[in-house]
Amino acid sequence: MNDTNYLISKNIAHIKAQIDSACERSGRCKEEITLIAVSKTKPVSLMKEAYAAGCRDFGENRVQELTEKYDQMPKDVKWHLIGHLQRNKVRFIIDKVALIHSVDSLRLAEEINKEASKINRIISILLEVNIAEETSKFGTTGEDAVTLAENVAKLPFIKIQGLMTVAPYVEKQEENREYFAKLRQLHVDIRKKNIDNVSMNVLSMGMSGDYQTAIEEGATCIRVGTGIFGDRHYEN
Ligand SMILES: *Cc1c(COP(=O)(O)O)cnc(C)c1O
Repeated sequence: MNDTNYLISKNIAHIKAQIDSACERSGRCKEEITLIAVSKTKPVSLMKEAYAAGCRDFGENRVQELTEKYDQMPKDVKWHLIGHLQRNKVRFIIDKVALIHSVDSLRLAEEINKEASKINRIISILLEVNIAEETSKFGTTGEDAVTLAENVAKLPFIKIQGLMTVAPYVEKQEENREYFAKLRQLHVDIRKKNIDNVSMNVLSMGMSGDYQTAIEEGATCIRVGTGIFGDRHYEN
C-alpha cells in the first residue's frame, strides 16, 4: 500500500464514520445514504484506490472527462454526471450514466429523452434546483421546479428520481441548513402531487464542507470530492 492509497481509504473511512453519526443524530439508517466520490480533475489511479476502498459511485462534471475515464474503470462503477450538461454532448454519455443530476430545463430533458429513445433505455435524472437563488449557479428556481417536473414527467425515456442542489460555499455548514431543509420540503411537495413517472426518492445535496448537515436534513446522495481525494489543482 502506498501513501495515497492509505490516505484515500482513510478519508473514506472518516467520511463513513461521519455519515454514521449524522444518521444517528437524525434517526436515519446509513443504508439510505449513497456516497458519491467526486473524481473530477483526479487521475484514474486515485479513483481505483477509492474503488478498492469500496466506492462504486463516481461523480464527474465534464462529459469528456467522464467518457475518458469510463473505459479505464471497472464495469460495475455507477457514473453520475453532476455538472452542467450541454445539449450537444448528451449523446456521448447517454449509454454510460447511472444518474444525471443536473437537469434544469425542458430543452435539455427533451434532448436526453431523444438520445435515450435511440438506445431504448430509460434514463434516471434529477432536477437541479438553485435553492439559494445564487446568480452564479445553474438550476431551476424552487417555484419553477414543479412545472418542470410536470413537463419532464411526460417524456417516456426519462425517469425523474428526485432533486439536486449545489448549496452556497459557506464557512460553517450550519449556514446551509435552511437551504437543505427548503430542498427537502420541495421534494415532499412534489412527491405529494403524485405525478406519473416521478419518484422523488433521491435527494442529492451536501459536499465535502456540509454533507453532515445535508444528511441531517434528508440527503440520500452526498457528493464528496475534496474530502476523499484532497484539493483540486486546476491548470489554466
Ligand atoms: C465539485 C463538485 C462537488 C464536490 O465538491 P467538494 O467540495 O470537493 O466535495 C459536488 N457537487 C458538484 C456539483 C461539484 O461540481
